[in-house]
Amino acid sequence: MSQKQHESLDEFNLQSLHAFCDEARRMGVRDAVVVAPARQVFTATWVRLRCQYGCSEYGQHLTCPPYSPTPETTRKMLDEYESAILLHGNNLDMVRDVARALEANVFLAGYYKAFAFLCGPCCSCKTCVIANQRFGTRVACRHSDKARPAMEAAGIDVFATARAAGLPIKVVGSVEEPQNYYQPPARISNTGIFLKVFLV
Ligand code: SF4
Repeated sequence: MSQKQHESLDEFNLQSLHAFCDEARRMGVRDAVVVAPARQVFTATWVRLRCQYGCSEYGQHLTCPPYSPTPETTRKMLDEYESAILLHGNNLDMVRDVARALEANVFLAGYYKAFAFLCGPCCSCKTCVIANQRFGTRVACRHSDKARPAMEAAGIDVFATARAAGLPIKVVGSVEEPQNYYQPPARISNTGIFLKVFLV
């Protein structure tokens, strides 16, 4: 591939990413920022331990530990992607809805590796099927089209990731304080972009 073709692919990539960011803002998020997963999305072992020792939802949802991807798996997965979009909002349900919608739109635009991480435990069912699991039985998610692991449930250090992207985040001392929710919904693969360009 010539240098000129490479440059046009980079330009195409950037334009697409910014168009998806604009779309996310129109859908209601406060901000949408393009990040490089390998350098700007951080994973750590301690994150999962914070779920296990401190969160009452541990083991209560198929999207939470110990069922969600380990930090090691998430790290390997992130390194397979060239770009991600980090969404920022103050309303949990709205940010989740935007992330799901954006994942679908990015996928349908030809980026077949699009995958959304959400935030917080999955609340699509009153009680997750995992709560009624009997020893040795296998249970299936009732809404696998909507259920996605939270960033933190998959071992992503959300504080370090948001700060590296220049977005606000701090430890809140009570539920009355403003909350900041993040999720990187649309991961765009280099291969996906090349495929799209060649098909155009
Ligand atoms: S959609 Fe329902 S069954 Fe699936 S993870 Fe969420 S709560 Fe559990």
